[in-house]
Amino acid sequence: MINEDIYDVIIVGGGPAGMAAGIYAKRAAVKTLLIESDNIGGQINTSDVIENYIGFDIISGGDLSSKISAHASRYGLEIIKKKVNNIDPGVDFHEIKLDDDLNLKTHSVIVATGGNPRRLNIPGESENFGKGVSYCAVCDGFFFQDRTVTVIGGGDSAVEESLYLSKIAKKVYLVHRRNELRAGRLLQKRAFAENNIEIMWNTVPKKINSDKTGVVSVQLEDTVTSERHDLATDGVFIFIGFKPNNRLLPVDVKMNPDGYVITNEKCETSVPGIYVVGDLREKYAKQIITAASDGCIAALAAAHYTEEKKAEVLAVEEKNF
Ligand code: NAP
Repeated sequence: MINEDIYDVIIVGGGPAGMAAGIYAKRAAVKTLLIESDNIGGQINTSDVIENYIGFDIISGGDLSSKISAHASRYGLEIIKKKVNNIDPGVDFHEIKLDDDLNLKTHSVIVATGGNPRRLNIPGESENFGKGVSYCAVCDGFFFQDRTVTVIGGGDSAVEESLYLSKIAKKVYLVHRRNELRAGRLLQKRAFAENNIEIMWNTVPKKINSDKTGVVSVQLEDTVTSERHDLATDGVFIFIGFKPNNRLLPVDVKMNPDGYVITNEKCETSVPGIYVVGDLREKYAKQIITAASDGCIAALAAAHYTEEKKAEVLAVEEKNF
């Protein structure tokens, strides 16, 4: 049941960052609502195996989501499944507009809408996701020990992840559509020096082939000659950019040129009372564990902000009495 009064904290997004914020906000005894338009867990629901979340040596994304949901319901976190259309910032409170025209008032907002890796949109990509196709080397690299992997992209992420994979896999092909990398010089130098990284210039992937065991090869096209051939590979790691879901943020919220939100150490944005957590935030490591950490920090900061805001209002009322 939606309470029409002013909330202390409204969290938008039910991935690990948003859910951690919800748990910490409830523990801080502030009036909290979490809004999620899809399934609780967000991106982790698409991970078959998670091996880098502390306390779980191995767990599926679905199971971790269920555990997170159960943990939140233990504290009675109010969750509604609705789409947020707009966040309207205000001085005394902020307004959250839902797509059914309902408006909710809140002292603070924690935005945890994450983002999505860009997709190639080629045949075999979505069909083999989790069966050899991956968008996260830290999550899935381990499964390719002494095997052959192909990385797509030429930016910092593609080169950095190729270097990471080169320590695990026997061979790393780095497939890039141009004849020079976009990545920074230092990363390039390190990649060129690695014996088991082979860069395939002027090359684009056209199709990912698989059998019942998973990915077996990737069909590549030379952009100069248009010739095609199949390259045998056990895995395809795609790093062609990430799209942060920043659509809901008010215009006054400062972002970097890539669309990530700039926050302070409390996860607070340039608009007081609006916090951003998880993959949408400009930060060094985008991991489940850092998303959960952001959620904790933002919830504690938002609870403190809310108490101060209420005290301010009370002081004004007492003065006018
Ligand atoms: P990015 O810099 O946008 O690079 C994307 C790469 O993918 C580019 O090389 C691009 O080719 C290629 N690409 C894009 N669409 C493609 C397609 N459809 N088919 C084939 N290739 C395609 O993305 P990113 O590497 O994820 O980095 C994002 C931002 O985070 C950047 O600002 C980056 O500097 C930063 N970052 C920094 C670090 C670090 O400093 N350690 C690490 C990771 C990311 P073109 O070059 O031809 O456009």
